Amino acid sequence: MTGRSVIVTGGSRGLGAGLVASFLASGDRVSSCSRSRTDNVDRWESDPDTKDRFLHRDVDLSDRDAVQTFVRDVVATYGRVDVLINNAGVAQEGVLATMGDAETDQVIDLNLRGTLAMTKAVVRRMFAQGDGGRIINISSVVGLSGYRGLAVYSATKAALDGMTRALARELGSRMITVNSIAPGYLATEMSHGLTAEELGQIVRRTPAGRLGQPEDVAAAAQFLASPEAGFVSGHVLVIDGGLSA
Ligand code: NAP
Repeated sequence: MTGRSVIVTGGSRGLGAGLVASFLASGDRVSSCSRSRTDNVDRWESDPDTKDRFLHRDVDLSDRDAVQTFVRDVVATYGRVDVLINNAGVAQEGVLATMGDAETDQVIDLNLRGTLAMTKAVVRRMFAQGDGGRIINISSVVGLSGYRGLAVYSATKAALDGMTRALARELGSRMITVNSIAPGYLATEMSHGLTAEELGQIVRRTPAGRLGQPEDVAAAAQFLASPEAGFVSGHVLVIDGGLSA
C-alpha cells in the first residue's frame, strides 16, 4: 500500500472533512474519528477510489481509553502513523463570569486533554517507527488575539500553540516536526454561532474580503506534511486572509 498514513481528528465535517478530502486526493491513507457519522464518512467508506484507504471510528476524544484504542486500530489497519492532524475542537460561547462548569470542562476536555492524549499515543508510535513524523495542531487566531465571549476556547487554543513549541523542542531530534495552523474565521458549522452582524464585521475587517475555506487550511497542512517542510518546526502559521496582519 502506498501513501502516508494520516490521522485527522474530527474528520466528519467542516475543516476536518476538507483535510480528509485533501489527503485522500494526494493518495494517502486517512483515518478519522468523531462522535457521529456524516454523509462524507459514508461516501469515503463506499467510494471505490477511497474505501480501501479510509477508516472512520466513532470516538469521543475526551475519553483517553477510546483515543488509545483508536490509534491501535489505525496501526493495525495501516501499519503506521506518519502524520497527525489534531483538528477536532469545540467552542462554547459565553462570557466567563456566567459560563457553566460543564461547558468549560467540555471545551478543555476535548481541545486540550483530548489533543494531548491523542498526541501522546501517536508520538509513542512514531518513536517505535523511528523514522520521524509530522504533527499539526489546528489552533486559532483567537488563541493569539482573544475574542470576547471565547475566553475558555481561546485559552485552549493558546495552550495548543504552547504545546507545539515545547514538542518541537522535545521531538526535533527524532525528526518529528510539530507546527500549529491558526485559522481565522472559517465558513463551517462552528462559525454558525456568530450573528450575521458579527460575520459581516469579520469579513469587512479581513483584507481578503471573505471567510476562510477548509481548502485554504488544507493547503497549509499539505505543505507542513510534505518532505520539503522537514526543517519547519515550532511555528504557528496564521491562515486568516490578512485579518491579523
Ligand atoms: P466543526 O464543523 O464543529 O467540526 C468539528 C469536528 O470535531 C466534527 O467532526 C466533530 O464531530 C468533531 N468533534 C467534536 N467534538 C468531538 C469529540 N468530543 N470527540 C471527537 N470528535 C469531536 O468545527 P470546524 O469549524 O471544522 O473546526 C475544526 C477545527 O478548526 C477546530 O479545532 C476549531 O477550533 C478550529 N477553528 C475553527 C474556526 C472556524 O471559524 N470554524 C476558526 C479557527 C479554528 P462530532 O460532533 O460528531 O463529534
